[in-house]
Amino acid sequence: MKIHEYQAKELLKSYGIPIQDGMTIDDPAQAEAAVAQVAQAYSTEQFVVKAQVHAGGRGRGGGVKFAADRASALEHIESILGMTLVTHQTGAEGRLVKKVMVAQALDIAQEFYAAITLDRARGMDVFMVSSEGGMEIEEVARTAPEKIVKEWVVPGFGLRPFQARHLAAALGLEGNAAKQAVGMFQKLYALYRALDCSIVEINPLVVTEQRELVALDAKINFDDNALYLHKDVAEMRDLDEEDPAEVEAGKFNLNYIKLDGNVGCMVNGAGLAMATMDIIKQRGGSPANFLDVGGGANVETVKNGFRIILSDPNVKAVLINIFGGIVRCDRIANGIIEAVKELNLNVPVVVRLAGTNAEVAKKLLAESGVDLISADSFEDAAIKAVEAAGDS
Ligand code: GDP
Ligand code: MN
Repeated sequence: MKIHEYQAKELLKSYGIPIQDGMTIDDPAQAEAAVAQVAQAYSTEQFVVKAQVHAGGRGRGGGVKFAADRASALEHIESILGMTLVTHQTGAEGRLVKKVMVAQALDIAQEFYAAITLDRARGMDVFMVSSEGGMEIEEVARTAPEKIVKEWVVPGFGLRPFQARHLAAALGLEGNAAKQAVGMFQKLYALYRALDCSIVEINPLVVTEQRELVALDAKINFDDNALYLHKDVAEMRDLDEEDPAEVEAGKFNLNYIKLDGNVGCMVNGAGLAMATMDIIKQRGGSPANFLDVGGGANVETVKNGFRIILSDPNVKAVLINIFGGIVRCDRIANGIIEAVKELNLNVPVVVRLAGTNAEVAKKLLAESGVDLISADSFEDAAIKAVEAAGDS
């Protein structure tokens, strides 16, 4: 799960990490009061207005604007709220900005990068810093990998003080700033662990002209499987920022991820779903989604799965690939027949059912009178689905 910058900053603050603070609003009517409050709270007349969307690169996309007085802060709030922000992470369609943060503007002396994530290859968390703050870290990794310094955290030990000191020194920090950095890095790691984060990224982490270390931006993602342990975090979820079809699928315990292709897939079991996507690719097609309807698929699951697949206008054919192990194929067949009758399908549907009661299921489908393309094997199904998607 992702959260907004303003929410990530609230969490940092609760861990005692200094942030560039401000107020976040979703209604232009609140703008004047918000600006006044920020001005008073931080005794400043200079502001930064920042679009709150679940995507990075807002600065370059026009979603982060500096204001030298209250009037221009209000203008920026007005123009950013409701704008469609396009960044390299939003895709060409962009993202509608529904929330905006007005923050205290800081005088920046230096910009750094700091992040924690899991290094899967080593099986350890990795703490990374770079002197190249404000830049895309992928870009730094490509062009100047030596500028990223890493410390791996041994499970059970936490980030050791000497590691935090090494990271601070790698940024060229000395004296009080180094001391602040050591404390901040340890708090950051504590937060990352305690809240089951999958990434904590501060970009940029800045040293102000007053030699204070401050998190200017913050991105935190969480491990969905651990969210049940963190009610407060789970409540930060903003469904407006997520794909509506994925949200809908979640309500029915369907594991759905939207992709760019045109062959809609309804499959049971994550492994078979992956294999189905692979074979569609191998046969020259492109999957429109990943959908695992789970082991206990029934008529309702099949119907909901269909509805969600068909809500994607890119879908030009549907491939149903179900292996009946626990679930019986005849029950799936009944689900398909009901769903097709009810939903008024306007794209070809290829069905491959294998396993328990597959023969009965085939007969049911054949005698149902609904318009389906039957496939004998996995491969046959993929070929027919790719062909159908191309034709329609
Ligand atoms: P992102 O583009 O989505 O990563 O948004 P950021 O919050 O990182 O802001 C983008 C850039 O705006 C930062 O890298 C800074 O260079 C700049 N910026 C943001 N706030 C301030 C500020 O208070 N003072 C100054 N001088 N620059 C700022
Ligand atoms: Mn940033």
